Formats: sequence, C-alpha cells, structure tokens
Amino acid sequence: MILYKLFELLQEVLVLENKKPPPFVVPTDEEAEKKMKVLLAKVKELEAELNLELSILKNKEENLKFASQKLKETIKREVILHQKKVDQLTSQLKDTRQKLDELKSQKPEPSPTDSQVENTERLKELQAEIQKIKTLIPHDLFNNFKLAFELHPSNPFTAALKPSNTCSSCSFRLTLEEISLLISEDKYFNCPACKRLVVKVEEVLD
Ligand SMILES: [Zn+2]
Repeated sequence: MILYKLFELLQEVLVLENKKPPPFVVPTDEEAEKKMKVLLAKVKELEAELNLELSILKNKEENLKFASQKLKETIKREVILHQKKVDQLTSQLKDTRQKLDELKSQKPEPSPTDSQVENTERLKELQAEIQKIKTLIPHDLFNNFKLAFELHPSNPFTAALKPSNTCSSCSFRLTLEEISLLISEDKYFNCPACKRLVVKVEEVLD
C-alpha cells in the first residue's frame, strides 16, 4: 500500500532530520570581508578627522601664547570644544578598531561533514519521493495521514474493531457510517480521538 511507503519515507526523514547539519549558511567570508571594509573605511575617516582636530588644537594652543587676555578667553573656550571633539573621536576610533579586531578573530563556520552532506542529499531524495506520492493519492488522504503521522510517528495506522466498532489503538467508538465507507470504498479516516488513520477492519472473536 502506497501509504506504507509514505510512512517509511517520512520516518526516514524524521531520523535524518535529527542528524542533519544546521541550515547551510552562506559562507561568512564574503560578508565578513564587506563588514571589514566598511569598518576600515570608518577607521580611516575617524583618523583623518582626529588628525585635523589635533592640528587645530595645536594651532589654538600656539595662538594662546601670544594672544591678549580677552582673546585668550575665547581661544580657551575653543580649545575646550576641540579637546572634547578629540576625546569623542578617540573613543569612536577605539570602538571601531575593537569591532575590526573581533571580526578578524572570528573563525569561519565549520564546513559540514561528509555524512551531513550525504544526509542532506538523501533528504532531498526523500522529499522528492514524498512529493511524488503526494500527487498519486487524494489530497485529503495525504493530509489525514500527515496528521496521524505527526501525532504518532511510530504507529500512525489503526484498525476498526468489529463488532465493538472501536479504534483498536485507543478504543474510541467509531461511527458505523465511517466503518461502512471503509469497508465498501476503502475510505480511510482519522480516529476522532487519537487521530490515527483507520485503514482496516478487524473482526474480534469472543
Ligand atoms: Zn483511536
């Protein structure tokens, strides 16, 4: 029965998914390089700005020596402003350099092992087979089975017991209508209680 095939495939998917590698990340090299370039440019920019501020500061301090008392006050205020700017730029530069160092020290992602690559390949095959089966069976049946499998991955199938008309797994009473459709038209349905897929009828002798 095709559903059993589907069952096997889905089980293998589950097993492999537990062992599968983390989703492939785009190698960080390129991204890291981009970031590094941005940071390097920032460092250069900050260094240039800092040098400019430092030269202005030096110049002001020179002027201070020869200025009159009144002018001295003005220049001193300017010196304070530029000194602040220099401090600010110095700390920005330190932060940016630190980020750059962190980036440089980051190790590249370990590449997946051979068996992980194999798993990924097999998963692709399985997904393709599952998709194929999906096209071969009614949409409802696929979804009903999927529901049963998600809740009971190791035993998604159950039987309707006769004459009690109960689910053989959970003993929930099933409707006669559903059971008769199962018998006459092979119409599988989910047990309303445990959601397993009811695929056959079993007579129970007293
Ligand atoms: Zn049940």
